[in-house]
Amino acid sequence: MKRLIGLCRWESEAGSSWWFCPPKINDDSSGPTCMDSRLSGFYKGSPAERRQALIDAGVDPETVESLRGGKLGVDGADAVSENVVGTLEYPIGIATNFQIDSEDTLVPMAVEETSVVAAASFGARMARGTGGFTTDVSGPIMIAQIQATDVPAPHHAKSTVLDAADDLIELANEQDPVLVEHGGGCEDVQVRVIDTPRGEMLITHLIVDVRDAMGGNAVNTMAEALAPEIEELTGGDVSLRILSNLADRRLARATCTIEPDALETEDVALSGEEIRDRIVDAWAFAACDPYRAATHNKGIMNGIDAVATATFNDWRAIEAGAHAYAAQDGYGPLTTYEVDADGRLACSIELPIQVGTVGGATRLQPTAEAALELLDVDSADELAGVFAAVGLAQNFAGLRALVSEGIQRGHMSLHAKNIAVQAGAPDDLVDEVAARMVAEEAVRQDRAEELIDELTE
Ligand code: NAD
Repeated sequence: MKRLIGLCRWESEAGSSWWFCPPKINDDSSGPTCMDSRLSGFYKGSPAERRQALIDAGVDPETVESLRGGKLGVDGADAVSENVVGTLEYPIGIATNFQIDSEDTLVPMAVEETSVVAAASFGARMARGTGGFTTDVSGPIMIAQIQATDVPAPHHAKSTVLDAADDLIELANEQDPVLVEHGGGCEDVQVRVIDTPRGEMLITHLIVDVRDAMGGNAVNTMAEALAPEIEELTGGDVSLRILSNLADRRLARATCTIEPDALETEDVALSGEEIRDRIVDAWAFAACDPYRAATHNKGIMNGIDAVATATFNDWRAIEAGAHAYAAQDGYGPLTTYEVDADGRLACSIELPIQVGTVGGATRLQPTAEAALELLDVDSADELAGVFAAVGLAQNFAGLRALVSEGIQRGHMSLHAKNIAVQAGAPDDLVDEVAARMVAEEAVRQDRAEELIDELTE
């Protein structure tokens, strides 16, 4: 088995220990193994060569085979959604270079947009020199809401509901003994009276630890079960009983620092310090302008949604939570950039990440299951930390390009093959048409059509 240089954790029956792996190949599989996410030159290979590189790096060949194209199939899809007539393929790529909480991590990303995987890998490489990303997650706590309308004396009813909290928690937990067995369950009840255009409403929140689940179904079931009790306690009518995607008790954070040197690029006459300061200025722009903040956050979600799609997690829930969180004090950026005392770019992100390693659709699609295996996380919290680190890497890689050479040159070079295909290039000419357009700095459909005509004459 291959051992590569890096800080690794060796799990054994006696416990786990940390280790700096020697830079050598060893066929003895009894000792600690580690993954080197660096995979230098990975982007240059063919898909088959990249799969072999994953196997060489120690990824289970079965996982790699499932990443190649594990099929849900139309019958499987029919169980996941409705009115199914087929399935849709997405490219799945591997972002390299990530070091997250001292562990090298290969990140699967499913996305149809050019440059996203490349930028995440580049961002992770910039952070690698200073130890990669450190993450912190507040816990897998979701909130379910129960809306009661037409409540006589709602402030009095609030106290009545809070007095009954222990019974309500017990009833909620009876709905999900498996979750309780795993150490989760409803932990608290909170009540708010809100003033609306339709009068005052009494909103009960169930605070639920959902452990390794995303928790949508789990908390909705609890909320529905409690509705008759809430009606009886308040004298009102219960209508909505559903989770809130503003999962502000399920926050994931990631930080990293970047040396100015790592920000430099040969193509632009700006020092690392100038690029660093321009990135902080870009953040300040987003902090004061929602037009900019929306695009700043889209850059973050490029990475996060791609990991959510790869792992069959509910990206709509994550999107809703992220933007609601960003809007709490006036819409703003989910990341922050500062200069630390050593002159490094200090980067941080904080947002709700509602994801699961069990439940939902996470175990239904073989490729998505393999993506979770590749990430090798032990819990939904650990997975949330990976999402945060990827969002941060994606964001500062994009900002670095925006404040220096601009994103179009790199993006259009990678997009050139798409343009060539769109212009009708036959399979054997796609690479050549794309390469010529990039060399001419004319990545456009009209030029692709001319080149196809020239090359097929
Ligand atoms: P689920 O019901 O499929 O699985 C969760 C259940 O798995 C738990 O209730 C528990 O009984 C069991 N379980 C087993 N091992 C567990 C462990 N280690 N930790 C926690 N639970 C464990 O799924 P879910 O996570 O409750 O719901 C996720 C689904 O809800 C997603 O598909 C999402 O799209 C959907 N959903 C989302 C929304 C929304 O975001 N607004 C609304 C409704 C439904």
